[in-house]
Amino acid sequence: KEPDPDIAKIAECLSHVKHKILVFSGKGGVGKSTVTANLGFSLSSNPEQEVGILDIDICGPSMPRIMGVMNEQVHSSGYGWSPIYVEDNLSIMSPGFLLSSPKDAVIWRGAKKNGLIKQFLRDVDWGELDYLLIDTPPGTSDEHLSIVNFLSKAGIDGAVIVTTPQEVALLDVRKEINFCKKLNLPIIGIIENMSKLVCPKCQHTSIIFPPTAKGVDGMAREMQVPYLGDIPLDPLVGKCGDNGKSLPHTFPTSPSAIAYKNITEKV
Ligand code: ADP
Repeated sequence: KEPDPDIAKIAECLSHVKHKILVFSGKGGVGKSTVTANLGFSLSSNPEQEVGILDIDICGPSMPRIMGVMNEQVHSSGYGWSPIYVEDNLSIMSPGFLLSSPKDAVIWRGAKKNGLIKQFLRDVDWGELDYLLIDTPPGTSDEHLSIVNFLSKAGIDGAVIVTTPQEVALLDVRKEINFCKKLNLPIIGIIENMSKLVCPKCQHTSIIFPPTAKGVDGMAREMQVPYLGDIPLDPLVGKCGDNGKSLPHTFPTSPSAIAYKNITEKV
């Protein structure tokens, strides 16, 4: 079978990006997009680093809202689509920018969806980047196989997997880890989101989910993948996400912003 010529084009498009990181989650709603956005904000707080975020969660693109650029329109330059700049050194591209209204659900399926994902990987004019974080749909579907295949010549650094601490989420993370191992995709590490509750009044931390036998860190150890750390369940995280604000900039001393800072240093 002839190799897909777009795979080489995608590699060419991303050849000016030093680090390319896929963000996965076993389930929806565990905070994958929020984590991706805040890792982006956290990485770009170093003004020497150029950071991009590519949202290919085609059916549920929430990135424009989380990053406060909801009503922007994408323009094309001679080199492809120009991403939207959230800060001088932080840009983002999302299918959300192609919808006429944020309420429009995207119901692209199968080949059409893959075609769009391919376009997003191949046609964005990122310029020189230090980091590109790629927010993928939840789960391990055929779409993920396509994404990994499309990126097979682009030199992906690896995947970061986001989970919550409950056992039901962990079951899916195990699947996610095995999926990466099967595809020889390196796992940069697991991030445990919404681990404990931080009281908005007194900042006291409480455990709210029943602890699982091993915990996320224990599971990571057992499966021999790095555990990058935990982010508390913090109303400030939701508040920033809903208002399109950067958590690390708005509440830099909050426990969750500090957690992001520590994790960013390991990514
Ligand atoms: P996913 O991308 O996995 O579907 P989202 O990033 O959209 O999940 O997050 C789902 C909801 O959870 C959002 O309303 C978000 O603000 C909230 N959320 C995510 N992480 C946290 C956290 N650490 N503390 C509080 N709320 C959070």
